Amino acid sequence: MTINGRTKICGLLGCPVEHTVSPEIHNILAERMGINMVYVPFHVEREDLKSAVEGAYGLNLLGLNATVPHKEAVIPCLKEIDEAAADMGSVNTLVRIPGGFKGYNTDVSGLYRAMLSDGVEIAGKDVILLGAGGVGRAVAYMCIQRGVKSVYLLNRNAGKAQEVAALVNRLFSEKTPKNGNAYGKVTAMSLADYKKLPEAKYIAIQATSVGLHPNVNDVIIDDKDFYAKIEAGYDLIYRPSKTRFMTMVEEAGGRAYNGLKMLLYQGVEAFELWNQVQVEESLAMEVYRLLEEML
Ligand code: NAP
Repeated sequence: MTINGRTKICGLLGCPVEHTVSPEIHNILAERMGINMVYVPFHVEREDLKSAVEGAYGLNLLGLNATVPHKEAVIPCLKEIDEAAADMGSVNTLVRIPGGFKGYNTDVSGLYRAMLSDGVEIAGKDVILLGAGGVGRAVAYMCIQRGVKSVYLLNRNAGKAQEVAALVNRLFSEKTPKNGNAYGKVTAMSLADYKKLPEAKYIAIQATSVGLHPNVNDVIIDDKDFYAKIEAGYDLIYRPSKTRFMTMVEEAGGRAYNGLKMLLYQGVEAFELWNQVQVEESLAMEVYRLLEEML
């Protein structure tokens, strides 16, 4: 990589950023595609976020990613925001436009692309979504946007699940469906009530932090009967690469996937937005294999 007077700069705003693999994703994509761009992590404290975004614009940065704890807090610092990201209340990608940055959420469009790449289509299906945190809310929105019939949103704190379900259902009640079919619905449930789920085959998305390294023996629901309902299960965790949730899905006969492809494609989609290019699937898979080796 040669850095010269024309090198475009992108970066990550986060706290901490020390363990991020995003530089590997973007710098390899830039190198392989012959794009003169470099991607660097920026450790930005909460109180410095506004000045960091203004400074990035002043320094002519092409784009930024935002990670914990800035995904919501960055919204007031934007010049514009994509409709879906505004609805989700979460921005992980900032794209330079005249006068500032426009915010997008490529986390969940990345998850959708990961599912397509794994041959998992959610349109017309029923989904069990475990977790109503920041990512859970965005995933619930994405599921309805992408044609899921019913999302059963289970959370330890049932009140939070109810808030998310009410928000997403209200947002879609105000939108006109693109293909003429009515939008699906989110139903909130307490995690403890998982036995009350209707008998059916589901796609399950595990969006809690249960099972995350180093607590690798933890699992959100420890009951074989629950996993028998799951035809495909996604754990958004990628450290460890195989969680107990994934093992239990597989032992019950389902297919299981971790969150690494979601991480990959959120990066790929940000890269595409910044550079106005399309990343070939074969190149995305090359980066994926490198990430697998690193983690
Ligand atoms: P968050 O806002 O902190 O939400 C955490 C969620 O986990 C909440 O639903 C919380 O339930 C639940 N939870 C935590 N401890 C629990 C426990 N002991 N028992 C039951 N539920 C528990 O986190 P987030 O930002 O949404 O992230 C969620 C997960 O997504 C994390 O594991 C993160 O690593 C992963 N993630 C992956 C990617 C990727 O690219 N693959 C990107 C972003 C995030 P309560 O509301 O009841 O507390």
